Amino acid sequence: MRLAVVEDDPALGEALADGLRQLGHVVDWWPDGQKADAVLNDTTYDAMVLDLGLPKTDGMTWLRLWRQRGLSLPVLILTARDAVEQRIEGLDAGADDYLLKPIATAELSARLRAMLRRTTGRAQAQWVHGALSYDPASRQVHWQGVAIDLTGRETALLEVLLKHPQKVLSKSQLQEQLYDWSGGEPESNALEVHIHHLRRKIDPSIVRTIRGVGYALGSGQPTGVDP
Ligand code: CA
Repeated sequence: MRLAVVEDDPALGEALADGLRQLGHVVDWWPDGQKADAVLNDTTYDAMVLDLGLPKTDGMTWLRLWRQRGLSLPVLILTARDAVEQRIEGLDAGADDYLLKPIATAELSARLRAMLRRTTGRAQAQWVHGALSYDPASRQVHWQGVAIDLTGRETALLEVLLKHPQKVLSKSQLQEQLYDWSGGEPESNALEVHIHHLRRKIDPSIVRTIRGVGYALGSGQPTGVDP
């Protein structure tokens, strides 16, 4: 998942971003709503984690503004344990879920997965595509029932393709889902290398190259098997 975390407390923001990255997510951490607002138009996030207590303009005001502008991104708000009114107000303002501080990163990640299952209409925890199955919680990939060992980036790339099974994704669209804003530009052929590895480790049929346009999820049918 590509996530935006908006949290002004540097220790908490960094801990959340690190914890979520270790669980395999691509994370941009923004210390205030202004900075998040500046990139929201140009960046496709899967979900946002939004602290309500932010400097200058608070999280609730940003959330209302973003919803008014038509932002449909699932948003999970972070609130203090005793702030019941705030949670109700947040949900009414357009939040999809909330979590109370202090936060356990593993729980936050599980909540984000559950939130995405609801908002994308995917009720099953396992994603199945032909001979491939993928468990977004454990990030385990199986092909014809056999576990496949992928790196974090390879898994993230496969997840992006599985999320858009009908779509052709351009190189820049895929890169945007794989790299956050902190790491600078990836190597120019890094994406091609990951695609090559997916085909070699899983099956050549798993990714289709659409010449001049980009890549799409393949058939999920094993190559070279006689019917
Ligand atoms: Ca705060």
